[in-house]
Amino acid sequence: MKPLGPAEIEKLPGVRLAAGSTFCFHCHPLVACFNRCCRNLNLFLYPYDVIRLRTRLGIGSDEFLERHADVVLRRGDHFPDVLLRMAENPEKTCPFLTADGCRVYPDRPDTCRTFPLEQGLLHDAASGADTPVFFYRPPAFCLGQHEPKRWTVPEWVADQEAETYHRMTIRWAALRRMFREDPWGAEGPTGRRAKMAFMAAYNIDRFREFVFGSSFLRRFKVQPELLRRIKKDDLQLMLLGFDWIQLFLWGIKSRRLKPG
Ligand code: SF4
Ligand code: SF4
Repeated sequence: MKPLGPAEIEKLPGVRLAAGSTFCFHCHPLVACFNRCCRNLNLFLYPYDVIRLRTRLGIGSDEFLERHADVVLRRGDHFPDVLLRMAENPEKTCPFLTADGCRVYPDRPDTCRTFPLEQGLLHDAASGADTPVFFYRPPAFCLGQHEPKRWTVPEWVADQEAETYHRMTIRWAALRRMFREDPWGAEGPTGRRAKMAFMAAYNIDRFREFVFGSSFLRRFKVQPELLRRIKKDDLQLMLLGFDWIQLFLWGIKSRRLKPG
């Protein structure tokens, strides 16, 4: 998710949901289209998605990225996108799809839990604020949209337990926006600093090793209470990683992290 200006937001497909408006949706195993949506997707993974999925699968972040992610650096971008790699079968099914549904359901990615909505971020250049906006855009084959059950956006977000996901995705999107400008210079987007930034964002186990097993804690000051928490707490470590990217690429200090 990238923050967009008002003109760009208006061009997004789907029906923009105003505050308080409702939409129809109900997905359940008896719909004729059951499981049809979980295939052949360009499914973006955000850093918090990777933490949750790798924990659910009981594997390390290295292994998760190796087995399940396609890391794609598009021409003109300065930071890669991470997409869930679909299975190598004719239907290109999601690797977590089973006959009974999603096998990672409690930890499914932000995009899956927000569906049939899509979240965008409206960026106000004057104030610098990012405001979430939601679009209702089920594909034509999705029969859930014809069910009578009605939702407001907050009801849907609460029902899908998507609050933390949305907060983390918005924080990540704010950092991604900074990559509109090229921070790499002559090194380019595949150089050492780019690899470090990618690790801090997406490879939480390697980042933890880096924090506790290198000169990191001599070079940077981490709040003592936070230092205790990040030994186990992946979410807090991820946020520290975001702050570290901002500090080492753009010199921006934060409450959590300062130069040592
Ligand atoms: S296509 Fe829609 S209704 Fe059918 S399984 Fe997917 S989300 Fe549910
Ligand atoms: S993660 Fe689960 S909900 Fe998302 S596409 Fe895969 S099977 Fe479907």
